[in-house]
Amino acid sequence: FFSDKSAKIFVAGHRGLVGSAIVRKLQSFGFSNLVLRTHSELDLTVQSAVDAFFTSEKPKFVILAAAKVGGIHANNTYPADFIAINLQIQTNVIHSSFTHGVEKLLFLGSSCIYPKFAPQPIPESALLTGPLEPTNEWYAIAKIAGIKICQAYRIQHNWNAISGMPTNLYGPNDNFHPENSHVLPALIRRFHEAKVSKDKEVVVWGSGSPLREFLHVDDLADAVVFMMDKYSGLSHLNVGSGKEVTIKELAELVKEVVGFEGELVWDKTKPDGTPRKLMDSSMLMELGWEPKISLKDGLVDAYKWYLENYAAKQ
Ligand code: GDP
Repeated sequence: FFSDKSAKIFVAGHRGLVGSAIVRKLQSFGFSNLVLRTHSELDLTVQSAVDAFFTSEKPKFVILAAAKVGGIHANNTYPADFIAINLQIQTNVIHSSFTHGVEKLLFLGSSCIYPKFAPQPIPESALLTGPLEPTNEWYAIAKIAGIKICQAYRIQHNWNAISGMPTNLYGPNDNFHPENSHVLPALIRRFHEAKVSKDKEVVVWGSGSPLREFLHVDDLADAVVFMMDKYSGLSHLNVGSGKEVTIKELAELVKEVVGFEGELVWDKTKPDGTPRKLMDSSMLMELGWEPKISLKDGLVDAYKWYLENYAAKQ
């Protein structure tokens, strides 16, 4: 993968949290021939448009980071969108990549593909061993189908399609919506706004005891490039930091990074969710990849991005 820095690489979804990090990482390694299309330039749910794009551009590599994503509320409200749009995007892009001679494709999913009661840490082999978390099963079923499409094309056509399943991600271009975002960006925003308005307290949801794993999206992007270079196996690979923190520890760290000086108040009427969610990323780590950004350093970077790009525009 590294031998040809002028190879044409299509990064689908380059404006999102994940796609934008992959673009930055590829550019930092000197890849100079990235093909990027915004949603309005190319609607990936339209098969004929996707096929015309591949006919004219003929990329050598494809990284599929385009998806309809959202939190629990969005998943519950728009289940048809979450299953149908994701199935359309991935089927179109994967099939056209295969028929137009793409050398290697990497498909990205999420840890919600695993059963609700999977063993912890969750190994790749836990896939399809039990019922999913009902609130995001529409999205999860589409992502599981994506893994299976990649495996099927490999088995039937010996075509080099691989999949990576990241843990909870954060970083530049994250969603900072106050109710709909995930815990880490939600806390950055809430602590920042409390600091600015000199509040005495910040409310954090739940008991603080659930354990979560976080990965800075630049580390995921590093893993994506690593997998494009080094991995061509049938199994999908988990991509996590391997490090867990309690929500209480996370909240204390965000408080410190933002520089809020008041108290934390726990709103126990809000749900804790699953007590623990940790991926087993030893398959990827045994191939030689490791995360480089500590949670503390990653939070400093995410807060800086929030200040310069989000808070500044409010
Ligand atoms: P999950 O990993 O799928 O449970 O998703 P979240 O990132 O939404 O929540 C993780 C944990 O953080 C849960 O235990 C939440 O109750 C807790 N939490 C604490 N404060 C917040 C908040 O302001 N927003 C969110 N989304 N979660 C919070």
